[in-house]
Amino acid sequence: MREKYEPVIGLEIHAQLKTDSKIFCGCSTRFGDEPNSNTCAVCLGLPGSLPVLNRKAVEMAARAALSLNLRVNEESIFSRKNYFYPDLPKGYQISQYDRPFSEHGWVEIPTSERNQSGHAIEWRMKRFRITRLHIEEDAGKSIHEGMAESATKSYVDLNRSGVPLAEIVSEPDFRSSWEAYDYVQYLRRTLQYIGVCDGNMEEGNLRCDANVSVRLRGAEAFGTKVELKNLNSFRFLQRAIEYEIDRQIALLEAGEKVLQETRLWNERDSKTFSMRSKEEAHDYRYFPEPDLPPLVVTRELIERTGREMPELPEARRRRFIEQYELSVDDAAQLIDTRAMADYFEEAARASGNAKAAANWILNELVRELKNSGADISRSPVTASSLAELIKMIELGTISGKMAKEMLVEMYSTGKSAEEIARERGGAQISDEAEIRQLVEKAVADNPKQVEAYRAGKTSLVGFFVGQVMKASGGRANPQVINRVLKDVLEGEGQKG
Ligand SMILES: [Zn+2]
Repeated sequence: MREKYEPVIGLEIHAQLKTDSKIFCGCSTRFGDEPNSNTCAVCLGLPGSLPVLNRKAVEMAARAALSLNLRVNEESIFSRKNYFYPDLPKGYQISQYDRPFSEHGWVEIPTSERNQSGHAIEWRMKRFRITRLHIEEDAGKSIHEGMAESATKSYVDLNRSGVPLAEIVSEPDFRSSWEAYDYVQYLRRTLQYIGVCDGNMEEGNLRCDANVSVRLRGAEAFGTKVELKNLNSFRFLQRAIEYEIDRQIALLEAGEKVLQETRLWNERDSKTFSMRSKEEAHDYRYFPEPDLPPLVVTRELIERTGREMPELPEARRRRFIEQYELSVDDAAQLIDTRAMADYFEEAARASGNAKAAANWILNELVRELKNSGADISRSPVTASSLAELIKMIELGTISGKMAKEMLVEMYSTGKSAEEIARERGGAQISDEAEIRQLVEKAVADNPKQVEAYRAGKTSLVGFFVGQVMKASGGRANPQVINRVLKDVLEGEGQKG
């Protein structure tokens, strides 16, 4: 049945801009404070109070807009969106409507369907258009559960009232739940990279609504769309869209109609349920906000913002594949956060072996981080310390197996690779005479390699270092080995 129909999905994302103070007053935006403590006459909507626009919010919105290839309008206006709700003290929300902050953006990102076990089937690049990004204020929060008199009362916390948001509206370009999932992931990562949003769906500083409809494959007209709300994790988003596609197809197949409405996702029942019939724009009686002048963004600000833009995750992913010859999957994992990507690049540079750095981070370090619930930016094993470990393996100072054990120890103790190697293997042998004996034996035991080395295959030096290391139980000082080896191999070569 699925093949007969084509899903059409559009996404609206509300991203909380990471300013210290609210958009129209000086109240703090801190999460988790005592309810209603971060409020004033402006964000409580008291009569006679006037909004003053927070410049930082505009700068962050400009950064977000440019990172998504949106065109920032030099002049935009704020509008009042009128509706009644207990957590909206003014009875309207200051938003933008017919002249938004920015328009006509797009992203081109990798996306893939997933198999039963959730693994990507085949990544391909797809472009999704972004209609607009505008600036608005958040409403307060209604609390229906968990309070002393929740059975009979609802509670309102207005700390969130007036927190700045960027609303990012896409075109209906998504054709599957996984495309929507990949897009929201990408958006979140980008906003985190450029430092304008924490992207934490559980804390509600990134929220997503999806408009879902289905139509017969090949049809041009869109079907009736349903708005899905309450999608407060990536998993919910994907599952709710999937459920909704099936629900709508089943209705149409039964000869029934899809109603235009807003539905909520219920995770416990794995179902969407109807919340209300969907408002049309005219229900909100938008009109220009009389208390704020038009928002003028100078060319200079836009140009400066463009110049200061860091490398974006998608560009970085492609560069990792090209520059470090990483696999598509490894590159995708390493750019997951900016801290992870920075860590990788530092370890790759310091060790001179990008592939090893990628493997060690993704296979060993990530597991340790997961076990201790830490972020890579606070890893007890620094990038340079990991690079040191990688170099020791390459020199043959330690085996790969030993290195894995050492990494676990480095992680739990914060000690360097060399410290741990010393403790484990007893004192390091740096005595030149002792090492020379081992070197001479390695040379005598391997005449073929000696010949090849002297014929110009100098990369064999690593082989000899390894032999000496093995013979010394991993304790010989690699620098001394290298010096003596060169001496023995090249010195005797001249004599012969
Ligand atoms: Zn305030």
